[in-house]
Amino acid sequence: MPQNKCSFCGRSEKDVKLLITGLNGYICEECSKQAYNIVMESGVLESTKSETADFDMKKVPKPKEIKEYLDQYIIGQDEAKRYLSVSVYNHYKRLQQETTDDGVEIEKSNIIMVGSTGTGKTLLARTIAKLLNVPFTIVDATVFTEAGYVGEDVESILSRLLQVAEYDVAAAERGIVFIDEIDKIARKSDNPSITRDVSGEGVQQGLLKLLEGTMVNVPPKGGRKHPDQDYIHLDTKNILFICGGAFDGIERKIAQRLNTHVVGYNSVQNVAKIDKKDLMKYVLPQDLKSFGLIPEIIGRLPVLTYLNPLDRDALRRILVEPKNSIIKQYVKLFDMDGIALTFTEEALDYIVDKGVEYKLGARGLRSIVEAVMMDTMFEIPSRSVKNFEVTADYARQQLDKAHLQQLEQG
Ligand code: ADP
Repeated sequence: MPQNKCSFCGRSEKDVKLLITGLNGYICEECSKQAYNIVMESGVLESTKSETADFDMKKVPKPKEIKEYLDQYIIGQDEAKRYLSVSVYNHYKRLQQETTDDGVEIEKSNIIMVGSTGTGKTLLARTIAKLLNVPFTIVDATVFTEAGYVGEDVESILSRLLQVAEYDVAAAERGIVFIDEIDKIARKSDNPSITRDVSGEGVQQGLLKLLEGTMVNVPPKGGRKHPDQDYIHLDTKNILFICGGAFDGIERKIAQRLNTHVVGYNSVQNVAKIDKKDLMKYVLPQDLKSFGLIPEIIGRLPVLTYLNPLDRDALRRILVEPKNSIIKQYVKLFDMDGIALTFTEEALDYIVDKGVEYKLGARGLRSIVEAVMMDTMFEIPSRSVKNFEVTADYARQQLDKAHLQQLEQG
């Protein structure tokens, strides 16, 4: 009896794992997988997907649970964690809302986080996306064109989101986009009549459309290869945007505002209460405006929160405490070679001291530990050693050996 063959690749029944029978032919598991990918990439299933895709609210963790999860990975920043947890939770509630005739429509609450570089803004956004298992992508605000329209750059952002969503349009449409360095597109001056710098405004208009919700035609994977290949239509209405920026110098704007406020009645008490070392925590939307963001953008980012600068104590905790801490990563690396790696308390203190000295924040800690461990990582796998202890003296000696100059430049 002749063997049945896959009508696409020609392999016979005995060479494949599965052969599906059709009216006039057969298809094997490999070819159906390929066919599936082609269909997904073409975007033709988009409309049915958007209609049928359902989001299970029961699976969305409660704000407290979101915060507890964030606590495992991010040190401190309690205020930002609470704001984020609530906003993300509400975002998913909003996605669930049904059209009712009470006229109440929950609006989107995009988030803006203000805080120096390296304080955990990206880490927060990334960790939330991981928890919720939604498509997540990071973009730099500086890619927005000055043309003031939703241009190619926006397409490429969304096409990245689609890619991580494995071309599931419905999933991408409720994903999270982290827009970094939002402060870089601020207008240079609050007063356009003195030093008019409208370019920043054009860029902000482009971003505004995206935040408000707009239909963007995203080319299918790898760009449009054939003229008849349809664009994928992606609605940004339900995408949650989390923006982050260092807003260098915003403390001055905050101080100015606080100063004008505290004049007069009650001023003495108020001045006493203000924590001058950490003005960031008093940030208000009007400070973002003074910094040069247009009011429309600020209006589209209703949740404003801040991140604290990382002090010595925070850096020390970051080194060891998070689930994915730098030290834990090195211990794991050594463990894979059957070596028990330990650090003395003094060694950890020394590493943190250097981190503070180099002013590189949490990012610097990693390069310091890397420099300390380099020689050992090179030598030890070839030796029959079962444990290794990093002491402060050893760390000092290794760091002195490494090119300090290079480290300091980051
Ligand atoms: P930002 O986006 O604010 O510039 P990141 O989130 O990219 O900073 O932080 C850079 C790195 O520093 C992170 O990958 C993380 O390892 C570490 N880090 C920064 N802040 C914290 C924190 N609060 N808790 C734990 N790790 C942190």
